[in-house]
Amino acid sequence: MRDFSDGPRHLSVNTATVRRQGDLPTIIEACARHGIPAISPWRDQVASIGLDRAVRLVKDAGLRLSGYCRGGLFPASGEHRAAARDDNRRAVDEAAAMGAPCLILVAGGLPQYARPGSIPSKDLEAARAMIEDGIAELLAYARTARLPLAIEPLHPMYAADRAAVNTLAQALDIAERLDPGGRDGALGVAVDVYHTWWDPELYAGIARAGRERRLLAYHVCDWLVPTTDLLNDRGMMGDGVIELRRIRQAVEDAGFTGFSEAEIFSDRWWSQPIDTVLATCVERHRTVV
Ligand code: ZN
Repeated sequence: MRDFSDGPRHLSVNTATVRRQGDLPTIIEACARHGIPAISPWRDQVASIGLDRAVRLVKDAGLRLSGYCRGGLFPASGEHRAAARDDNRRAVDEAAAMGAPCLILVAGGLPQYARPGSIPSKDLEAARAMIEDGIAELLAYARTARLPLAIEPLHPMYAADRAAVNTLAQALDIAERLDPGGRDGALGVAVDVYHTWWDPELYAGIARAGRERRLLAYHVCDWLVPTTDLLNDRGMMGDGVIELRRIRQAVEDAGFTGFSEAEIFSDRWWSQPIDTVLATCVERHRTVV
């Protein structure tokens, strides 16, 4: 297992972690100041300053990317389907321009939540079929852009409104059906401890992802007990119950050599100064990740 104790050289910060404290230029500058070598930016933050400027700021700061957030939200009806397709193609183009190693895909849940205005449905199986169709279509486009797609399974509490891909095994099955053998690295998975720590098949899934060369991204935070908000109460690494060291060991045993990306959506951390949050991420990365 890699030694993280000597500093943040394997740390990436997902920019949503400090999104309330400043815009993308502020976050880039702060990460560089804390010696954090990589970020994973969000599309809205890039859009608000313009893609060209975002590309230039990342380059000038000497930062790398661990991912780009995000594409997906595939289930849709009628004209919303074409809108989803076009929007996802733009996400691929932006990720490629930014030099991201992959575009993170949050699959989407039922169509009325994935793409508001779609015909409401409770048919989760149909939503999952739309997800698979959507990924298949986007994969063809992403291949031409040479931009890998990373399916991120989300905790099942989000199945209705965010992602009906809920386990690592399910994500890997989709990847294998759409990209048998996975030889060119075009389609893989993102393992986020927040979404996967509870899964009795987690370690088998990580080992399988490694064997099938699908491990494209690794996200860390912690699971607080009790969790008070479904979306915005993620814990700082070390403050909850996730066996971070053990999971990282498994991910690295499976061949993952990329950044460990801190991704914390948290009202309590959003209320802290940006330097406090980043310094804490660096310290916890050294000591508990
Ligand atoms: Zn994540």
